[in-house]
Amino acid sequence: THFGFQTVDEAEKAARVAGVFHSVAARYDLMNDLMSGGLHRAWKAFTVAQAAVRPGMKVLDVAGGTADLARAFARRVGPEGEVWLTDINASMLTVGRDRMIDEGLVQPVALCDAEKLPFPDGYFDRVSVAFGLRNMTHKDVALAEMARVLEPGGRLYVLEFSRVWKPLGPLYDLYSFQVLPRLGARVAGDEESYRYLAESIRMHPDQETLKTMMEEAGLVRVRYYNLAAGVVALHEGWKP
Ligand code: SAM
Repeated sequence: THFGFQTVDEAEKAARVAGVFHSVAARYDLMNDLMSGGLHRAWKAFTVAQAAVRPGMKVLDVAGGTADLARAFARRVGPEGEVWLTDINASMLTVGRDRMIDEGLVQPVALCDAEKLPFPDGYFDRVSVAFGLRNMTHKDVALAEMARVLEPGGRLYVLEFSRVWKPLGPLYDLYSFQVLPRLGARVAGDEESYRYLAESIRMHPDQETLKTMMEEAGLVRVRYYNLAAGVVALHEGWKP
């Protein structure tokens, strides 16, 4: 059965992702800090350092949500540069946009799907996506779009949950399936969204698979850094 171009499963996934982020937008940052013990800040800082954004650059943050990366990039591009904060979810984007404005950062914002980016080929020097690829229905399409909008020599950064170092697996499972949903219930009043989070992390491609997917999207010199024993990985790829 089809809903337009999407199968029912895919449409369900997209609707579910939308529901999760409308539901968690308000308490999103608090939950990030609690769930990761504040580590997500270090992972994002590492991403910003690797991206080496310079004054005058054009940067796109895909699935930018509450704008943690976009805000850091916006401080680096200077008056000549541009940082586009984009997300498919209006609730998340509104939180991110307001936060940019509160910090005096005036940058463009766009509500759009990563699978269909409203930018011309080769427009950006850097593209980033933090904890967003996992939620996308067609990751190959989204990666190809991100590669398309990069100019030759430009770089894509994908920060995402990945495959944890094997000996830590049982501990990580305990945390994800026992602790995390309870934390979600108590703090965000939303156990289901955090159960979905744990499941979506398990389904996401591991380090090597994502590396291959980025190469298939046309990127070169693809490499990755494991962070927190592979709980998270930062992948980098260059547009040839
Ligand atoms: N990048 C932010 C961060 O690191 O804090 C937000 C990450 S949040 C876990 C995931 C974001 O992905 C949500 O804001 C959600 O709306 C967005 N998202 C999910 N599917 C998307 C899609 N197809 N296109 C663009 N954004 C999407």
